[in-house]
Amino acid sequence: MAEVAEIRTVDLPPRDTIPKRAPIAVRVAAFLVITLPLLGVVAAPFFVWGWGFHWVDLGLLLGMYGLTAIGITVGFHRLFVHRSYETYTWVKFILAALGSMAVVGSLLNWVAQHRRHHQLSDTPDDPHSPHHHGHGVLGMLRGFTYAHLGWFFMPDPPGLDHYVKDLSASRAMRIASTLFPLWIGLGLGIPAVLGGLITGTWGGVWTGLIWGGLVRIFLVHHVTWSVNSACHLWGMRPYRSGDESRNNFLLGILALGEGWHNSHHAFPTSARHGLRWWQPDTSYYIIRMMSFVGLAWNIKLPSRAAQDHAHR
Ligand SMILES: [Zn+2]
Ligand SMILES: [Zn+2]
Repeated sequence: MAEVAEIRTVDLPPRDTIPKRAPIAVRVAAFLVITLPLLGVVAAPFFVWGWGFHWVDLGLLLGMYGLTAIGITVGFHRLFVHRSYETYTWVKFILAALGSMAVVGSLLNWVAQHRRHHQLSDTPDDPHSPHHHGHGVLGMLRGFTYAHLGWFFMPDPPGLDHYVKDLSASRAMRIASTLFPLWIGLGLGIPAVLGGLITGTWGGVWTGLIWGGLVRIFLVHHVTWSVNSACHLWGMRPYRSGDESRNNFLLGILALGEGWHNSHHAFPTSARHGLRWWQPDTSYYIIRMMSFVGLAWNIKLPSRAAQDHAHR
């Protein structure tokens, strides 16, 4: 738990001074960001294999999923929030752009919210804890929904900027964060243009947008959000982490290693979340590959003694 101290923390204002709801524009934006990819998913079955879904679309879906999920896990989370390894500024900029294409928030806002999550994990001031929402099955469902996407409709807590002073001191990172709308546009435009160029048809533009854009955003959204909701509800807790974080095998796979969330809360600055050989951690494998080619260094890992000490 000593490693938590490395994350920037902020003195909290009294809870009754915090507004209960976000401004209307924020709530409308959150609604659109959640529902528009869903429309893509609803439309997708009409483009079934052989008619509106071909190898090109599958490639665009998997390729864009992989790239934007890596932007979140290897970039936003392990590099920018926890500084679990170091890299060049140009690599940081690319990872910031890829993570932004996942449309889960601008770089600075996402990092600040996540650092606050670690500071206050599963307390009433945690931005997205599934706990404290009542008892029984109904309370659990309410908590799950809130931690998954309900919290997007809440106002930003005051003082959020203080969590990201290190990042906002960098001009490159400020620019990468401000360009969030451009990255969203590119995340939709790139698969559409590629779909059109590869197939040489206007239909390819349309299905590229649906599969590589909207359906891909929908999948990355719900997998990423499940780390906040499901990984604080269901799974194993091998380490004493001081909260309700869990190791969830399914999300360990789908979220490229982020599902080993109890291990992560126990050792937040570790570049590796799947600490055992049988816990696949694609994001860590990518960081290792980056280090082999000289693109990552100062990779932080918990010692064997620290792991044994924190084990239940
Ligand atoms: Zn967590
Ligand atoms: Zn974290």
